[in-house]
Amino acid sequence: MQNLLDLEPAALARWLAERGEKPFRARQVSRWVHQRFAADIASMTDLAKPLRASLAREAEVRAPQVLGDTTAPDGTRKWLLDAGRGNAVEAVYIPEDDRGTLCISSQAGCALDCAFCSTGKQGFNRNLTTGEIVGQLWHANRALLADEIDAAWVEAGRAPITNVVMMGMGEPLANFDNVVPALRLFLDDNAYGLSRRRVTLSTSGLVPWIDRLRDECPVALAVSLHAPTDALRDRLVPINRKHPLASLMAACTRYLDKAPRDFITFEYVMLEDVNDSDQHARELLGITQRVRCKFNLIPFNPFPATEFTRTSPERIRRFAEILQRGGVTVTTRKTRGDDIAAACGQLAGDVADRTRRQAFYRLKEVRA
Ligand code: SAH
Ligand code: SF4
Repeated sequence: MQNLLDLEPAALARWLAERGEKPFRARQVSRWVHQRFAADIASMTDLAKPLRASLAREAEVRAPQVLGDTTAPDGTRKWLLDAGRGNAVEAVYIPEDDRGTLCISSQAGCALDCAFCSTGKQGFNRNLTTGEIVGQLWHANRALLADEIDAAWVEAGRAPITNVVMMGMGEPLANFDNVVPALRLFLDDNAYGLSRRRVTLSTSGLVPWIDRLRDECPVALAVSLHAPTDALRDRLVPINRKHPLASLMAACTRYLDKAPRDFITFEYVMLEDVNDSDQHARELLGITQRVRCKFNLIPFNPFPATEFTRTSPERIRRFAEILQRGGVTVTTRKTRGDDIAAACGQLAGDVADRTRRQAFYRLKEVRA
């Protein structure tokens, strides 16, 4: 069965053309799937009967299965989604007065092993398919509509999710071939219709792929910086050994030529006594001098067995002040969803245990 969530706009048109259907049918099917969140082909009532029958035989709308659904007191809602073979990923909904943001995962686990990230500690399991990535947005919209969430734009007929951030589990640029078709669906007028400015991809700095993203599907870009020197960044974000700061800054400048926003967001996790001194802040101003940017300071979210602690609020304020005096806009991220472990870098802690258990069972099988 063809999962319709796997097909980017051009691929859906091709798939239907191969079955003798006209291009406008692709737009119709796309609207059913991605705007009305239809799960059932039979419900697509304005499609000609023969098309509906052949679709029902050959295609389906298959989002990842929901294993868990928890809402924190602040309204942050986390879905735990099955990624097969004991793996799971998470999508996190963050409601705000003027928008609904969904934080989406791109991989089960992550190979890049950043020192302060619980996903990294899990190791890499596998890339999500396009359908599994798009399925997170499809499912969130559907679930929130079913719950009749209270938002002015929903009453006006728009979908609950207005902004997408690829900041969940995994490194999206390491799964480029499945992520870009998903981005195209997020942007397509007959699918989710989000503007490029409302779709943000966060990367730890895979330089060649930043260039490819610029050429193939420029969306708003966030770069996980976390350190002002190569020596420190090598330790915190190991991919820096391959793509050091000078080449990363150059890639950011190139990206700005085509970026939908006129700045890059630098994410910076605040780790006490590691990367949070006045000197670090001044060095950051130095290395980012030629890049139009904003800084987003993220208080470190602890997880079991981590060596790091969170910088105090006073220190974060002082750090922000130095950057601001240097002429950079700074925001400090509110930590949300803490109590359901849905904050950045805390995702799927419980899944890690399951993954380890799986590895243990596999080992037993091999030995038996
Ligand atoms: N792999 C991508 C996107 C997912 S991580 C990336 O690294 O950019 C999303 C953001 O959460 C990144 O900026 C990441 O550095 C940050 N993060 C990871 N672990 C964290 C933690 N424990 N506390 C706070 N932020 C964390
Ligand atoms: Fe992977 Fe991002 Fe976590 Fe680093 S911070 S290990 S790149 S998910």
